[in-house]
Amino acid sequence: MVQTHILGYPRIGADRELKKVQEAYWRGDIPQQELLAVGAEIRRANWQAQSDAGLACVAVGDFAWYDQVLNHSLMFGVVGERFAEGAADNKLDQYFRLARGRAPSGQPVAACAMTKWFDTNYHYLVPELSSDLEFLLDSEWLLTEVREAQSQGHKAKPVVIGPLTYLWLGRGLDSGLELLPKLLPCYAELLSQLAELGVDWVQLDEPILGLDLPDEWRGAFDSVYQKISGVAAELKLLLATYFSPLRENLQLAFSLPVSGVHIDCVRAPEELETAAQLAGEHLVLSTGVINGRNVWRADLEKWQRTLKPLAEQLGDRLWLSASCSLLHSPVDLESEVSLPKEQRQKLAYSREKLQELGRLQQQLEAAAAAIVSDEEILQTSRSVAACLQDTWREQRYLERSPVQAQRWQLPLLPTTTIGSFPQTDLLRGVRRKYRNNEITEKDYREHLRAEIGEAIRRQEILGLDVLVHGEAERNDMVEYFGEQLDGFVHTGNGWVQSYGSRCVKPPIIFADISRPKAMTVEWSSYAQSLTSKPVKGMLTGPVTILNWSFPREDIHRSESCLQIAEALREEVLDLEAAGIGIIQIDEPALREGVPLRESEHEDYFAWAVGCFRYTCSEVKAETQIHTHMCYSNFNAIMDAIVSLDADVITIESARSDLRLLSAFAKKVGGYPNEIGPGIYDIHSPNVPERGELVERLKKIAEVVPVERLWVNPDCGLKTRNWAEVGSSLLNMVEAARAVRTEL
Ligand code: GLN
Ligand code: ZN
Repeated sequence: MVQTHILGYPRIGADRELKKVQEAYWRGDIPQQELLAVGAEIRRANWQAQSDAGLACVAVGDFAWYDQVLNHSLMFGVVGERFAEGAADNKLDQYFRLARGRAPSGQPVAACAMTKWFDTNYHYLVPELSSDLEFLLDSEWLLTEVREAQSQGHKAKPVVIGPLTYLWLGRGLDSGLELLPKLLPCYAELLSQLAELGVDWVQLDEPILGLDLPDEWRGAFDSVYQKISGVAAELKLLLATYFSPLRENLQLAFSLPVSGVHIDCVRAPEELETAAQLAGEHLVLSTGVINGRNVWRADLEKWQRTLKPLAEQLGDRLWLSASCSLLHSPVDLESEVSLPKEQRQKLAYSREKLQELGRLQQQLEAAAAAIVSDEEILQTSRSVAACLQDTWREQRYLERSPVQAQRWQLPLLPTTTIGSFPQTDLLRGVRRKYRNNEITEKDYREHLRAEIGEAIRRQEILGLDVLVHGEAERNDMVEYFGEQLDGFVHTGNGWVQSYGSRCVKPPIIFADISRPKAMTVEWSSYAQSLTSKPVKGMLTGPVTILNWSFPREDIHRSESCLQIAEALREEVLDLEAAGIGIIQIDEPALREGVPLRESEHEDYFAWAVGCFRYTCSEVKAETQIHTHMCYSNFNAIMDAIVSLDADVITIESARSDLRLLSAFAKKVGGYPNEIGPGIYDIHSPNVPERGELVERLKKIAEVVPVERLWVNPDCGLKTRNWAEVGSSLLNMVEAARAVRTEL
């Protein structure tokens, strides 16, 4: 009989219980015992849910106090020296110092770097590798959790990141491969410990098999798995891949000495048939057919038709699963009380995905093979790309820029900010009251006007050149637009972990998108009415709105993107007509949507960049379009960024001076239009010194021509307080003035 299992389950709890106790523990409000108890309860409930749904085994090791990659770093002793102090007394606090630089006990220290997990919005903590690293196995947490699951009557399947993926994720060495000989004994030891506990299957995650891997990395797989597979004769290894087709690595995956392979059939349905052949007479084929990254109910009929012949061929060697760990899906639709039934019926969160697996299993057992031809919706982005052929503005930057200079009369090194100003407790409180109907819409609007007035007044005093209204009306840069546009649905409890205790609640694109009325014009024009300085209009770009939402599955992403672009284009033209002559369209998520395989980049950029340009292709030459991205390392996507053709781009760079400078030094004039490399880090509460800013600006001016250089912080200021913002911006404005006089 066909079996069911999952690669992992969300660990935040159905009601974000983990977040609440984590934060309380960090604040020192609760003792460690209480935190541990909530974690244990979440694991218990997760395993129970899997067992209730009839899964053959439960995933163990997918729980983490902060991040699963960090769990592995602690398990293998990949812990920088700066974290050594106090570790013996309190291991969990050491863990939190690695994760976030501080814990209730011990001294603050610089945390590990954090970066995105493949193409998801989940962030992992980067393993710090060095040549002299000595790995040391400390698997106690995993063994304890395995025993815990077993004592609750479950068959435990430990979930472990494979050695090659683990090293690939690390930083600090040209190639992490050099550490393999030292790391593998830890894996061997770990597997034999798990075998001793009576574990039958271990899942080893190697998602890097879905990337364009360098030859040395591909070549390493065989010998690595030869070495670790023979450790315990009874133990079976399931090699898990996800997020991407395996292509040239498909054969390789099935040729390794493992007992089964998991493939992501949502991202690569075309590989299913070959995979079934490659499974041959002995291997288990785990098929990830339920989408672990979206909220829609699966088309079980379709999968039943597709899988029926495979079920006959493979019998109990066919396993059904979600495409990837359910970490990337919300937890439980039961607790989603704010959506109407017609909408809820179309959705499946993690809990419901478990049930879908059970249903599919039953259907495969019961029904005879249906001979219905598969009329799939042909998902294509070609038509969108075709619509976007001609989305360039009429004049090129070189013609626009003198017209804009003439209109705006800005000084050299103009100063500006990225959009948001501090969201104070007062403002949050007023918004809460408005949402709970405790104050009227009129009162709410009046309060927002007061916030805007205050923001303008402060910017004038500081002497900034291009002002912003401050985004007081926005709780979140995607949610705000999602709420104004038709076609989006906002969930009450669709939380997904982003990192540590942070969760996001992406809106769902439920239908075609359109703009019933102007979304930001009122606020921007009000701000402009208060000052003679230019006020920059502020929009979130189409690609970012798309990438930070749950997309539809019945049409291609590019089509929704174009619909959003159409709505934003109307907004841009309305802003322009209302006298807002500088408009910023933020695209911090452009890079995040880049496909994992290079062969798909061209297609993605064709529609994504095309949609961005489409939002502003009709504006007059004198209207200045800005964009903003929260990263500086855009070497790999430089061409795409140039093709956005924004007049000004502001980027992050304060934390990575040298990287930015080297990108520019390599390709002087690499960005042909104007650029504002953020000159200080807004993520830190520290106020930058004027002298330090002057030095940094001068250094930047050596590689970026001053006529095209802007001065700004590296991101929005909404998470800071006014005291920090006031002093920092004052120093920034004074630094710009000081450098101007020397030019
Ligand atoms: N305009 C937005 C803000 O200032 C940009 C946020 C972002 O880049 N993530 O808040
Ligand atoms: Zn930013």
